[in-house]
Amino acid sequence: MVAPQALIELEAARAAVLDPITPLESEAVELARSLGRRVAGPVRSTDPVPAFDNSAMDGFAVRSADTTGARGERPVWLELAGESRAGHPSEAGLDPGQAMTISTGAVIPEGADSVVPLEDAVREKGRVGIGVDPPPGLHIRRPGEDVAPGSEVISSGTVIGPAEQGVLASVGAGSVSCYRRPRVAVLSSGDELIGPGDPMRPGAVRNSNSFSISGLVRESGAEVVLNEIVRDEPAATREAIGAAVAADLVVVCGGVSVGEHDHVKGALIDLGFEQRFWRIALKPGKPTWFGRRGETLAFGLPGNPVSAMVTFLLLARPALTALGGGLPDRRRIRARLAADRAQTPGRTEAVRCRIEPGEGGWTAEPTGAQGSHILTSMLGADGLVLVPPGEGTIEAGETVEVELIGHG
Ligand code: AMP
Ligand code: MG
Repeated sequence: MVAPQALIELEAARAAVLDPITPLESEAVELARSLGRRVAGPVRSTDPVPAFDNSAMDGFAVRSADTTGARGERPVWLELAGESRAGHPSEAGLDPGQAMTISTGAVIPEGADSVVPLEDAVREKGRVGIGVDPPPGLHIRRPGEDVAPGSEVISSGTVIGPAEQGVLASVGAGSVSCYRRPRVAVLSSGDELIGPGDPMRPGAVRNSNSFSISGLVRESGAEVVLNEIVRDEPAATREAIGAAVAADLVVVCGGVSVGEHDHVKGALIDLGFEQRFWRIALKPGKPTWFGRRGETLAFGLPGNPVSAMVTFLLLARPALTALGGGLPDRRRIRARLAADRAQTPGRTEAVRCRIEPGEGGWTAEPTGAQGSHILTSMLGADGLVLVPPGEGTIEAGETVEVELIGHG
């Protein structure tokens, strides 16, 4: 008998996964297609935004020296000299005693130094009565107030969301350098597996991991290049994994435990993957296997549907973040446990919880029964409470660490 291998701690497992990862290469991506991508290298603006002195209001551009002492009941009358519209700057400037109609975003004409809003003025034929005395600079937006020329607007590794897309457009980045999306092959192993639309047969289990895991892959900003079921036979397992090794990451769910029909570890080793760890001090997720072959990473995740999702979230997602050029930060908060939780000797337990505002901070409410086959416990889960190993009980009201699982 071979002595049972010690279990690796979750943090050590994370470090083993992340240590040697370097981000994938970058590629130019059209701005319109960049949502959800990660920026490779900082984005700087060459131009100022706004690009020129412009009006913050619809109204009248004036020389502030002309409006001294103007009040509503005693307006100062100025000659109306043309218009500066958004996109149509006035060719002429403003002479003393003149005002110019101006719209929001339009260029401040030469000579003007403040803007009087429409509602503070009365317009008559050829002239305008100004009822306020604005200080110089009022309602004028200066060049570079939003973005100074040469400044960094987006740092490397940032995920492009709607605000980033808007800012990139505003600085004239029609195309943006992004890290290539990691390519992920998802294999689900098990003779029992049938598809969601297949007729039931005795002993069959509907394949849920192909859906939950590929969903997590896509939410992580990566691409699913293969998503198949593999039969519980050594040759079939080797063949399926062999066809998947062009991916950056191979995720095999199931068949990684100690059973007679678990062929995934053997197949990965036969194909040249080098084991970095097998079996983690984690519940659920103990049988998790991780290895590499050159730049290709491989996870053997347990087949139980919750175990597969939990280990993906805690280990494979950070790997995808790092491959994709991001920082795989632990997104953790502290919260009070809403119910007593018995500890598990020798293993950290990841308890699926809803996070709700409570008295003096966040409260973590377990989502219900926590068996590794109770996939509905993932519904509505905001985070995984990481209950430290031990023989005792963490009592309701005690503060615990929660790893947030929402994508980002
Ligand atoms: P295994 O890790 O292969 O020993 O599988 C552990 C448990 O998870 C068994 O009950 C399997 O039927 C189940 N299982 C394995 N793969 C899947 C899958 N893709 N979808 C749903 N259940 C699965
Ligand atoms: Mg199996």
